[in-house]
Amino acid sequence: MTSAYRGLPSVERLLADGRVSALTAEYSTLTLTQLARQHLDDLRQAIAAGRPCPPFGEIVSSLVERAASTLTSSLRPVINATGVIIHTNLGRAPLSDDALAAMAAVDRGYSNLELDLEEGKRGSRFVHLETLLCHLTDAEAAIAVNNNASALLLTLSALAQGREVIISRGQLVEIGGGFRIPDVMRQSGARLVEVGTTNRTYLHDYEEAIGEETACLMRVHTSNFRLTGFTHSVPLPELAALAHQRSLLLLDDLGSGCLLDTRPFGLAAEPTPQESLTAGADLILFSADKLLGGPQAGIVLGRRELVSTLRRHPLARAVRLDKTSIAGLAATLLHYLRGEALAKVPVWRMIATPLDELERRTRRWAQACRRVGVSARVVEGWSMVGGGSLPEEGLPSRLLALGGDGALDVKALARHLRTGDPPVVGRIERDALLLDPRTVDPRQDRVLLRALHTALAAASAAV
Ligand SMILES: *Cc1c(COP(=O)(O)O)cnc(C)c1O
Repeated sequence: MTSAYRGLPSVERLLADGRVSALTAEYSTLTLTQLARQHLDDLRQAIAAGRPCPPFGEIVSSLVERAASTLTSSLRPVINATGVIIHTNLGRAPLSDDALAAMAAVDRGYSNLELDLEEGKRGSRFVHLETLLCHLTDAEAAIAVNNNASALLLTLSALAQGREVIISRGQLVEIGGGFRIPDVMRQSGARLVEVGTTNRTYLHDYEEAIGEETACLMRVHTSNFRLTGFTHSVPLPELAALAHQRSLLLLDDLGSGCLLDTRPFGLAAEPTPQESLTAGADLILFSADKLLGGPQAGIVLGRRELVSTLRRHPLARAVRLDKTSIAGLAATLLHYLRGEALAKVPVWRMIATPLDELERRTRRWAQACRRVGVSARVVEGWSMVGGGSLPEEGLPSRLLALGGDGALDVKALARHLRTGDPPVVGRIERDALLLDPRTVDPRQDRVLLRALHTALAAASAAV
């Protein structure tokens, strides 16, 4: 046992090895020393657990690998070939070139983030987005914060803390990652009063629940699932009429923040902020990185005095949006104001891509596979909007299908693709690996094919 420990080299000896000292070109000696210490600690623990001490050469190789895998940013760009346009695990909405340029321009140097250039006095970071948001939606006022969950937390903290919020049981949504909207709401100190049943809630359910303590009625758009069959929910205009008749507020969490009509693409209608305002909601909340197609942010818009109350609340400071996101969101909103969102906002460009264009690209992908001796098929399938919007709504697509004939280990191929450079993520259905061109930027087709080529070679070498 003790002799095994004696096989461990000193930190100095490790650092003196040529392969380790070569790393000083990339990392400081301090960093490498810490890494070598951690590595030796781990080996000591392994020996304590009964394992033998590896030879010196092996210790050096594993240390070099450790440096490569830990001293880099683990967050990397990925090619999304899943066909799910707003994929929460893959970072939701990709941004437009204009949005990226605006973000870089503001980040590279200083900006008038909180300086009124006319007056030379302190300004507010909130003004940069408010005018654009109000133009787009006809709202009186607007504020953008860190994300929609913080928009919800801020709104209820400012307007309903210690009081009651009435919500339908059919709208107590879990948004993914184990997070539930009602739990976020309770964090504000508001008390939720749940009314109706899972499938049916009537106006009189809300009416009977209103009491001295009620601050507002709340609707949460059931964005990521669909309730069908024997169901009833109260239309927004009726909820608004009830709320206002009893001097209460109506809040509407829309989830996705869809500013364009989804129906021309064969999708179901998604409620828009404009419709909610017209229906009488006092404040409307939504994400900026779902169907809006911008950077991560949460938007609240509606009545001016309510937005002012939010702006003055201490939590507004805790959940405020950073300059990078403000710049990116402003550039994204400008695409809508210029009427070029379908062509410029990637999420909408993907939704609007014609089927024949997708088919042409998939055919080219399949040809490239056949050239390296891999049989690939072009199959009919569906892309999804995702991001908790338009559940069950598909867009017809043409997918590249690999395997499914027993000649290829599909799971291994998927793993080689995921761990390649750049990583490519597809989906496996009925034993075939499917790659959907809709969510792949056409400018990345060549990179994708190269990654596919490498993964196919690795996967077939293993068979
Ligand atoms: C996605 C979603 C949220 C959370 O939005 P984030 O921007 O992810 O914080 C809240 N409410 C609804 C209805 C949603 O769909």
